[in-house]
Amino acid sequence: MYRNFKMVPRLVFGRGAFNQLGKILEDRRGPQGSAMIFLVDDVFKTGALAGRIPAGPRDLTLWVNVDDEPKTAYVDHLTELARQNAERTGGAPAGVVGIGGGSTLDLAKAVSLMLTNRGSSADYQGWDLIQNPAVYHVGVPTLSGTGAEVSRTTVLTGPEKKLGINSDFTVFDQLVLDPELIADVPATQRFYTGMDCYIHCVESLAGNFCNPFSRACAEKALDLCKSVFLDEPADRDADLMMASFLGGLSIAWSQVGICHALSYGLSFELGLHHGIGNCVVFDYLEAYYPEGVADFRRMQAKHGVELPRRLTADLADARIERMVDVALVLEPLWEHALGSGWQSVMTREKIRELYLRM
Ligand code: NAD
Ligand code: ZN
Repeated sequence: MYRNFKMVPRLVFGRGAFNQLGKILEDRRGPQGSAMIFLVDDVFKTGALAGRIPAGPRDLTLWVNVDDEPKTAYVDHLTELARQNAERTGGAPAGVVGIGGGSTLDLAKAVSLMLTNRGSSADYQGWDLIQNPAVYHVGVPTLSGTGAEVSRTTVLTGPEKKLGINSDFTVFDQLVLDPELIADVPATQRFYTGMDCYIHCVESLAGNFCNPFSRACAEKALDLCKSVFLDEPADRDADLMMASFLGGLSIAWSQVGICHALSYGLSFELGLHHGIGNCVVFDYLEAYYPEGVADFRRMQAKHGVELPRRLTADLADARIERMVDVALVLEPLWEHALGSGWQSVMTREKIRELYLRM
């Protein structure tokens, strides 16, 4: 059986595309002029973008803070605020719009799902547990690399695990990809999130679930990443945005691998963000991805990025064990990277050993 692949049905791409957001949303509001819920990274609260958000009087703008990566409790809180706005304005929201990096896009996806599904978002961490379609939701990335704009997951940290809400309903209904929005990302953040895309491609290509579709996307995205971070092409923002999109498509069709499995453990236990966590881990995976790690180090050197070291040296044993537990939950990633007998290759002891080197 081949997978029946759900994709983002509509997207607008190009410099200044953000100016079209108002019109796109207008078409969804219906005759009652139903409200939109904007979830916007609070880094933009004081900048020029704040004044360009096409919010009307019934709409709600929630400035979201992503100092910590999205937690299920935060999603539940934001959903409650959106529900209260619906009561105040006398009608269900017409849509949810996420404007920000991967964290904000994931929050927007999660809120759009939780507006139509009962209980806590923690109840839905896993694969295909969502029962009802989400509210119409739009993604507007301001940072490129995660591929969250195209994926069928929203990665959340819950009380027990860091695991996405994976479902066809999670996928955005509309994307607005405007390279101008990523122009002012601080250089180090841009590197970390850009390397997330690069690692998606390396991992997608070097695994058992790779196929002509995922390979085509990953190869192009990998070339774009290397060009952006080694050659500095003229339109590097557009190139990076395109790489993120294609890298995301590639892993949606294939899978990520060892770096992501280990990085989830680091992030769950140490609160390390996804991009930087991946960079930390990837540097220790030469044995598995030799060419990928060599090019990664060239890009790192060119951008003068120093990675944190000795993160696990003084950690209590129980915490290392928890990290191993989180990594081991991600079975499809291990199977993609190492095959169906992966448990005999990647033992608890081996994972522990890798963590202790970091
Ligand atoms: P992020 O969204 O966590 O943002 C990182 C920092 O960059 C924040 O401080 C943010 O305020 C800032 N920022 C964002 N846009 C900016 C801009 N234009 N100018 C200046 N600062 C800006 O970073 P990220 O790397 O894009 O996302 C990481 C998150 O994405 C993690 O939570 C991870 O779990 C998730 N993720 C999701 C998927 C998915 O498929 N859903 C895939 C990979 C990662
Ligand atoms: Zn990633």
